[in-house]
Amino acid sequence: MKIDSNNLPIMETFFSIQGEGFHSGKSAYFIRIGGCDVGCHWCDVKESWDHGKHEIVRVNDIVSKISGTNLVIITGGEPLMWDMTVLTKKIKKNKMVIHLETSGAYNLSGNWDWICLSPKKQKLPKKEIYEIANELKIIIYNKHDLEFALEESKKVSEKCKLFLQPEWARFEKNKSLIFDFIKKNPNWNLSLQLHKFMGID
Ligand code: SF4
Repeated sequence: MKIDSNNLPIMETFFSIQGEGFHSGKSAYFIRIGGCDVGCHWCDVKESWDHGKHEIVRVNDIVSKISGTNLVIITGGEPLMWDMTVLTKKIKKNKMVIHLETSGAYNLSGNWDWICLSPKKQKLPKKEIYEIANELKIIIYNKHDLEFALEESKKVSEKCKLFLQPEWARFEKNKSLIFDFIKKNPNWNLSLQLHKFMGID
């Protein structure tokens, strides 16, 4: 089957708790889309990168399996590598709330209630996505990422919520750096991967 707006590569779907960012702690149904060429060396879902390894599923079938909550989070991989128009339209038709987690490296498609933008230095977001992002989440791997965070925050709207999230494997190494930054820059917030601390998916 060919990938198009009605047929998308799906790595996994699961019902869990949002562990990151502004909506941390909410129950949500996750749809992890296959495919990403952004290439973060610390990526914790490298299995998602090759879309050819993931089953192409009809959008109708993806939507019919959503259960447990009315909050749906589309993540990846990089969902915007594909046309999200039909998927988001059909989810919204069921009166569900739909969030996107994206690096912003591809053109925006789909209709979203919340966009979490997590820019990556090696493939910066499209301008249009900075402007409508509800949340900016910068992953902190080393101290240079704090400068990157300040630079990126100049590109989003005033209403956009700002988060720093320690890269999981470097949490101990970087936590003081991050705490000090947030104390000095109170418009920034801390995002922890709560699901990892709790040992859940
Ligand atoms: S953008 Fe996300 S999925 Fe893609 S390589 Fe980076 S962390 Fe991994």
